[in-house]
Amino acid sequence: MSKNDRIFVAGHRGMVGSAIVRKLQEQGYTNIVTRSRSELDLVQQSEMKRFFAEESIDQVYMAAAKVGGILANNDYPADFIYENLMIEANVIHEAWRAGVKRMLFLGSSCIYPRLAPQPMAENSLLTGVLEATNEPYAIAKIAGIKLCESYNRQYGTDYRSVMPTNLYGPGDNYDAQKSHVIPGLLRRFHEAKESGAPEVVIWGTGKPMREFLYVDDMAEACVHVMALDAETYQKNTQPMLSHINVGTGEDITIRDLATTIGEVVGYSGRIGFDTSKPDGTPRKLMDVGRLHSLGWYARIGLREGLAKAYQDFLSSTRR
Ligand code: GDP
Repeated sequence: MSKNDRIFVAGHRGMVGSAIVRKLQEQGYTNIVTRSRSELDLVQQSEMKRFFAEESIDQVYMAAAKVGGILANNDYPADFIYENLMIEANVIHEAWRAGVKRMLFLGSSCIYPRLAPQPMAENSLLTGVLEATNEPYAIAKIAGIKLCESYNRQYGTDYRSVMPTNLYGPGDNYDAQKSHVIPGLLRRFHEAKESGAPEVVIWGTGKPMREFLYVDDMAEACVHVMALDAETYQKNTQPMLSHINVGTGEDITIRDLATTIGEVVGYSGRIGFDTSKPDGTPRKLMDVGRLHSLGWYARIGLREGLAKAYQDFLSSTRR
């Protein structure tokens, strides 16, 4: 692998894809290929086939996906399973046909069983029942890992997978309803501060625990994993258990997260709980032992990341 490789970042307009592009540029990769949705529809196999035939791509970062928070997953399950399956199948199959040697598929921590032992190790995949609120999305992401492994086993490709914990940071979706918890709460706490509201109501009981990783750390981990030589990657994984967790290894309750966000935003009112909204999985913490043994550790702490994310939210309201 070289710094001049032609690298396709699928999903470069998304939060993770754009962070990967920034990181690759920062590290001196000069030949990055991107396409907007209007130029290339990843759901259409014929478009993918033409793209790979024309572009002589060496590496692919698969950061394109339909993503959303707990309510969006509940409301649009068909969109989540269909679009993600189609994108993965098309990109992986057509990349293989065109001779792309190395790929990084990005999954999610929701691939693990709802009640997986914590912290969740890579080998808890497919050992139990998934969380119902995002099962269709999780099934699609599991299929993505298995596509990579199957092409590796049958065709000798070097398609790798990373499973990020909950991500946040610049380029997030700050919709009040359809977003994940951090961007949703940044917006709601900010608006409550502006309007002088006495209370911010958060969803669920506040008791679930989550781990959060700043997206620039995620991008750095992705480039780190892609740059490993094939022997090192294979030595630290297994052919049918080839994915690597990416996280900080630390978690926090949603209540404490909300308190911290209130402090970062500068909101001094109360926090209330709407227990008619779902809690989702009780706890979701990654075992990051595999990643640590490969030499990568998260660097950006939660408070520092939240402060940066709040600045991004503020500039997004001006964009
Ligand atoms: P999850 O990790 O897949 O459950 O995704 P989310 O980020 O959507 O939710 C994480 C946790 O935060 C869940 O327990 C939610 O009920 C809780 N939560 C509290 N307030 C909010 C909010 O305003 N938006 C979202 N998305 N979740 C919230």
